[in-house]
Amino acid sequence: MIAQWLCSCSTEPNSIYKLNICAKCHRVSCNWCQKPELLVKYCPGCFRVAGSEGQLRCIHNCLECPRCELNLSISMEKLINGFKRFEMVCNGCKWRYKTPEVGVLRTLTGCVEELEKNEDAYTQRFNSLREFYRIKRGLQTMEEGGAINESIASKELFDRLNETKLYKMINEERPIGLGDAGDAGDTEETTFPHPLRLRAKFDFRCPSCGEWLTKSHPDPKSSRLLLESFAAHMLPSLEIVPRSEVEPSVSDKNAMALVFTASDQSDAPVEITILGSATIQIPVRQFTLTFDGPVKRESTMETIKRLVRRVPTYQLNSSTNILATEKSRRLSRPETVAHKDNMIDQGSGWCIIPMYILEPATTHRIQLTIPVKGVYVTLQAVLH
Ligand SMILES: [Zn+2]
Ligand SMILES: [Zn+2]
Ligand SMILES: [Zn+2]
Ligand SMILES: [Zn+2]
Repeated sequence: MIAQWLCSCSTEPNSIYKLNICAKCHRVSCNWCQKPELLVKYCPGCFRVAGSEGQLRCIHNCLECPRCELNLSISMEKLINGFKRFEMVCNGCKWRYKTPEVGVLRTLTGCVEELEKNEDAYTQRFNSLREFYRIKRGLQTMEEGGAINESIASKELFDRLNETKLYKMINEERPIGLGDAGDAGDTEETTFPHPLRLRAKFDFRCPSCGEWLTKSHPDPKSSRLLLESFAAHMLPSLEIVPRSEVEPSVSDKNAMALVFTASDQSDAPVEITILGSATIQIPVRQFTLTFDGPVKRESTMETIKRLVRRVPTYQLNSSTNILATEKSRRLSRPETVAHKDNMIDQGSGWCIIPMYILEPATTHRIQLTIPVKGVYVTLQAVLH
């Protein structure tokens, strides 16, 4: 059984990692209801920032596979006559393309687009259709007594008009046959690499008060966040396990355990109020996550020891020395207040409370009220 969380904008449960909590108004929000603002648009191949708002693809040398859209590996061959030839290979689907000999070259994307314009049957068909409709419109204007367009009134056209009726030419919808464009069963010779599509970074604002929730570093190469408000960093994590996992003596399949673990960085007691839907019974209404001591400057070993103390006892196995030592320490000097106030087990920064399934249902709900920076935030979780 897993716990997923609800954002007030929808009834679709989310992972806790997709929710943010506003520092100003404490509203819980998700990517769907947050207000995005474009920070930077860049090419994921060469990391150049887009020159204009309308630019959608790289205009330098980055290309993508026309089949699976992965970046292409490009190699260059220098020919004796001073010309060059490029080979593009997709490491995903093994699609490959070799350019003909190229003389002067400004950019690879420009070169490939030029080749496509001259060689690709679809591009050619598109261009001739465009030309055809341009002529047709001109002829219609002529027929309606409009001015004769210079470019249309060519000698070739007048020659054709001598042989064919104008209305027949206007109905000539197919300047080239469909078969010529090589429709189904397209071969690799008729496809070309595409310039790599650009990616964008967005910053997000709170849907209620407009405060910034997430701010990224504007450098395309950086994945650093300048500001974050992840709910997962502020709330304890919740895991649901069969009670037998925590207490091997319990065999009832409807008996479950809710395991709350505080985030590594918290050291102040957290008071949590919990309420279950009618299909489940939770005998504990309120509990507090307490800690051994404040997080202070400490050595790596001390940090490890402190974090090991944050592991619930039932999860301690003897796979490593440090876990085995902690387990025997707890067994010899049980510091946890087991079964106190209906709780199953408790330790530094973690707490296990019982939950009993009264009615089998595909989903159960719980409501938690947790303080975030001094303000109580209510969250709904869907258990399924
Ligand atoms: Zn807000
Ligand atoms: Zn939302
Ligand atoms: Zn690029
Ligand atoms: Zn591919």
